Amino acid sequence: MSPLNVRDPSSPRLTPIAGRDPEAVSPVAIVWPCPLPVDAYVAAGRKVEVPRPACPSCGEPLVFWSGYWRHVRAGGLAGGRCPKIFVPRVRCGPCRVSHALLPAFVLAWRLDVAETVGAVIGQVAGGACGVRPAAARAGVPYTTARGWVRRFGARAPELGAGFAALAVELGGEAIRPAGQAGRFALAAVGAAFAAAAGLPGWLGLGAWRFASSVSGGRLIAANTGSPFLVAGKRRFMPPVPSAPP
Ligand SMILES: [Zn+2]
Repeated sequence: MSPLNVRDPSSPRLTPIAGRDPEAVSPVAIVWPCPLPVDAYVAAGRKVEVPRPACPSCGEPLVFWSGYWRHVRAGGLAGGRCPKIFVPRVRCGPCRVSHALLPAFVLAWRLDVAETVGAVIGQVAGGACGVRPAAARAGVPYTTARGWVRRFGARAPELGAGFAALAVELGGEAIRPAGQAGRFALAAVGAAFAAAAGLPGWLGLGAWRFASSVSGGRLIAANTGSPFLVAGKRRFMPPVPSAPP
């Protein structure tokens, strides 16, 4: 495969396949840069329109292959705060592997949407307030919010380095490591998003959907052994630029 050209939305590069077992279900989801509001995605049900990526291993077109329903929690949704969304699966016949195709507003294995998680992390890691008031504002349990902040803190050096490198690759501002790892990581996410926002399609997604997209949904995943998809070997799917008005 040729290296990713993030400036060319027609050249998606995706998350790697973890195994080659027959009919393997990849534990690494493909995150697509979904620009839809959460309620619009919910309302679309199974009919949600998602891009069809190429196989990250062999480059063959993936085919849609069933899918599953999962809950998502977000504020301000009609029909309850934890509606179900449909997550399509795509499958590569030659590789005999299927992947979940996650919208960028979710993080792998997290109920709450990326914007909620990001708001809490932003406030706490940014030093604006403690976990308890941030959790209350977000309407999530304190222990849940504390878990996010701890995970982000544990991964902060890695995230800071990755996002800072990505920012520079995208022509953005160079961020120097601050004394405090969490603040550095937060600043680096912001700098990378600011740089990406100048490229087609990213601006409307917001910083935390961007962060979910480029981390394969693993921004605060427990498994730190997973590849982090930035800094020179980016394999995330660039967004489809929206049509000019
Ligand atoms: Zn394949």
